[in-house]
Amino acid sequence: MSDLAGKTALVTGASRGIGRATAERLAGDGALVAVHYGADAAAAAQVVAGIEEAGGRAFAVGARLGVPGDVDTLFDGVSAGLDKHGDGEVKLDILVNNAGIMGGAAPEHTGPEQFDELVAVNAKAPFFLIQRVLPIMPDGGRVINISSGLTRVANPQEIAYAMTKAAVEMLALHYAKYLGPRGITVNSVAPGITRNGDPAFGVPEAVAQMAALSAFNRVGEPADIADVVGFLASDEARWITGAFLDATGGTLAG
Ligand code: NAP
Repeated sequence: MSDLAGKTALVTGASRGIGRATAERLAGDGALVAVHYGADAAAAAQVVAGIEEAGGRAFAVGARLGVPGDVDTLFDGVSAGLDKHGDGEVKLDILVNNAGIMGGAAPEHTGPEQFDELVAVNAKAPFFLIQRVLPIMPDGGRVINISSGLTRVANPQEIAYAMTKAAVEMLALHYAKYLGPRGITVNSVAPGITRNGDPAFGVPEAVAQMAALSAFNRVGEPADIADVVGFLASDEARWITGAFLDATGGTLAG
């Protein structure tokens, strides 16, 4: 655990899955966390309640991504929350671009509307969210974008999705150089198959097949990814920027 006391963080898509575990981890480390959700306000409220019960600080922010004005709505909600719950100054030290959607369609069945939605939620929103928060991000800040092992392993059902994740990885490469003078690090974390609310994780045969892809013969847990993000958010990771962190449990080892 690191010391994020006095820091503020926004985790997008924190109502469940990896985002939820990340919000819990950063709050456990002492940060005030904005728990973003798209549609499930009740789930986000539960995450906030859990963090508060554990002695942490958090507030929920709702904003559907992939629609006109999405980033403005999110930024305004985060700013208002930081103003209300923060320690005076409206600033954001840590941004975790985690919210994302998958495709699940063969290339010949991926239409322009689905493609546009994937790009809007997974790539366009993170780009403009970074642009929007940089003026309130202090020197030494952190931007962590959640990519996917599918930028390194082929899955024809997810070509468009993988394209959006490859785009997200470019944010780290180019922004790292741009923001280095301010001591702001920008990195990508690539999970492998990680347990979320998908019904497939309730089917033992399916879980066994997914587990076999990892060197550890198990599927990832949200906390496996949250701990990597927690490290990148900490001062200990100050010398890492522009990096791709393989958090696939050895899946990319082949
Ligand atoms: P998840 O359980 O499906 O949760 C997705 C989160 O994103 C939810 O909080 C959801 O909020 C939010 N979200 C989705 N679409 C949104 C939209 N249009 N607008 C606003 N919020 C939206 O996700 P996960 O499996 O934990 O994955 C998290 C990240 O890791 C994603 O970027 C994903 O691509 C990446 N990843 C996951 C895996 C995996 O195996 N799980 C593997 C590789 C990479 P609401 O529920 O409130 O709508």
